[in-house]
Amino acid sequence: MGLENTSNIGNTIQENFGHMVFNAKTMKKYLSPETQKSLLATMLNKTDLDPSIADEVADAMKRWAIEKGATHFTHWFQPLNGTTAEKHDAFFNPDIEGNWIASFSGKELSQSEPDASSFPSGGLRATFEARGYTVWDPTSPAFIRESEGGVFVLCIPSLFFAYHGDALDKKTPLLRSQSILISQIYRVAKIFNIPIQQRPIITLGAEQEYFLVDINLYKMRMDLMQTGRTLFGVRPARHQQMEDHYFGKIHPRVLLFMAEVERELWNLGVPAKTRHNEVSPGQFEFAPVFEEQNLAVDHNMLCIGVLQSLAEKHGFVCITHEKPFSGVNGSGKHNNWSIVGPDAKNWLTPGETPHENAKFLFILTAIIKAVDTYASLIRATVASAGNDHRLGENEAPPAIMSIFLGEQLSDIIDQLECGVPTSSKCGNILELGISSLPKLPQDVTDRNRTSPFAFTGNKFELRSVGSDQSCASPNTAINLAVAEALDLMLDELEQNLNDGIDFNLALQALLQKEIKAHKRVLFDGNGYSEEWKQEALKRGLPCASNTLEAIQAFIDPSVVALFEKYKVLSEKELQSRYAIAKETYKNTILIEARCALVIVKTMILPAGISYAADLANALKSLSDVKNTGLTKMVNFTASLVDSLAESIEHLEETVKSNNPLMIIEQMKELRHYADQLEKVVPDNQWPLPSYADMFFI
Ligand code: ADP
Ligand code: MG
Repeated sequence: MGLENTSNIGNTIQENFGHMVFNAKTMKKYLSPETQKSLLATMLNKTDLDPSIADEVADAMKRWAIEKGATHFTHWFQPLNGTTAEKHDAFFNPDIEGNWIASFSGKELSQSEPDASSFPSGGLRATFEARGYTVWDPTSPAFIRESEGGVFVLCIPSLFFAYHGDALDKKTPLLRSQSILISQIYRVAKIFNIPIQQRPIITLGAEQEYFLVDINLYKMRMDLMQTGRTLFGVRPARHQQMEDHYFGKIHPRVLLFMAEVERELWNLGVPAKTRHNEVSPGQFEFAPVFEEQNLAVDHNMLCIGVLQSLAEKHGFVCITHEKPFSGVNGSGKHNNWSIVGPDAKNWLTPGETPHENAKFLFILTAIIKAVDTYASLIRATVASAGNDHRLGENEAPPAIMSIFLGEQLSDIIDQLECGVPTSSKCGNILELGISSLPKLPQDVTDRNRTSPFAFTGNKFELRSVGSDQSCASPNTAINLAVAEALDLMLDELEQNLNDGIDFNLALQALLQKEIKAHKRVLFDGNGYSEEWKQEALKRGLPCASNTLEAIQAFIDPSVVALFEKYKVLSEKELQSRYAIAKETYKNTILIEARCALVIVKTMILPAGISYAADLANALKSLSDVKNTGLTKMVNFTASLVDSLAESIEHLEETVKSNNPLMIIEQMKELRHYADQLEKVVPDNQWPLPSYADMFFI
């Protein structure tokens, strides 16, 4: 297996970038100039879709897709089960003469009506109204996915609704939250006199961590296959403690896989940029160049799909579970978030002038207010059974939301808190609109890896997102929380200006007030430490330690009020999301428990019993020689087998209780005895591939 060998690979890559996407370049070839202009304006969110162009666009997409080898199209959407969904329809229809004719109408492009009854709806959809509908999202371009063996499908990014219009997907609230934030950004631009050159853009760069496991070993691990993580297994003597895997030399077999993933992603217009080994053996990372948020969310889902499908071709399985192996690092998704203002500048850089600095501090303060006010909501959007194993496990940020600003910015915030020069007793004074900010460091040395929400020079990085989660919900929460903070702060500022107060003075007083009210969320220290947990408790910061606690935030009255105020989701829709999250969590734990029981009863316990019997026989046949050590081994092994057998009974009883937290505790006990046995049973009699087998490819 190898990549195509060409001497001008760079040129080929440039030419091929995005050739599987219905982008501006493709449109030029297939659409009339007027339709191109109209669709491009819609794609860039400048205008609503003109329904009269749908037929022409559909016909163009069909011609392009068929030329590329596609036979089918699908509305590609993100239902609430956390994956992507697709139902393929052939482009062909019979005519009266019995011919099989290619056709694709504007109606088919714009809307489809899949049976929604098998997607989670959290009670939003009664069974007699099984229909749901998907609606084309023209702001994310259609693309053609190739799967192995040359099957090509035109994918049309779409939104998903229940029959009566309730949102049943992750993208609908994301798009709504974006437009609300963007309207607030325009208000900021107006009050700070910033020129409008373009529509503001919310940007996202999602770094994706994953594990690779050899497919043959994977197939021998029922736990990995059924639950995405190992339910048993002992960390090998050598794992990540030498710190030699992170950024280490990439194994050629892995590198070939990564290179092919990148080629495919480039063809799909995904700007895949960075690849490296991660901390744990067998763990890797992929990072793209950041893009417009909606597109970046889709591209991240697409990237997971490509990683998973190409892994098999290379004899691997790509594992995106947050904690597939106990005792080594889990996998997350660093969610880099920023704003490009209407002046085409990144608004999370301080800027060149005191005026730009003031606007930067206004935005920064709004983010601090937003994260403090809606910390529980942000935490809820990253809650899952998988991520529960990772958050707070000394490798990922804790479940407490806090913001890291770095030394210099923290100092500036302190100065702002001191207030207007005349009343200040502080040494350094920052006068908004007059003082310049020092240049902020952007290098990695200043970064605090233990913070869940860190300022990294020109963006905020939410590090709590799980590797298996879509970025849509956490970004919806951030967009909306920041939008409300800006809205409230702008109202106050505008009121003060109307009352004749000087702009800079009014601004300074406002920022001082907000910082005083919300500075409890700022924390630059070690987020992994026990002291921080105590300190956070004292500060009154919320700390939901598991998914069941965390998801309560979805139905908290303040969160419901926020979503209803901006018409992003109704209370009913939030209730449904809460119900789905709860159900998904419970099902995940039940599946894990049942799978653990099958593995222990049919594989681990028999191996333990037969080894204990072997030892007992050996002891009998060696009864004439000194055998104190052997006797101890027999007793130890037999007692482990016995405890394991009892533990099975306990877990079976607990499973009946249907209480996930109790089941988790009981699974820990079962695992403890099973893992102890793994340490004594001979390797060739152990029924599962070990961690050591799976880590070192
Ligand atoms: P790291 O955080 O691993 O040191 P970088 O800071 O270079 O690496 O970038 C991490 C990710 O953040 C990349 O995907 C990058 O494209 C993205 N990123 C950089 N600038 C922005 C921005 N203004 N908005 C959103 N994402 C950004
Ligand atoms: Mg990063």
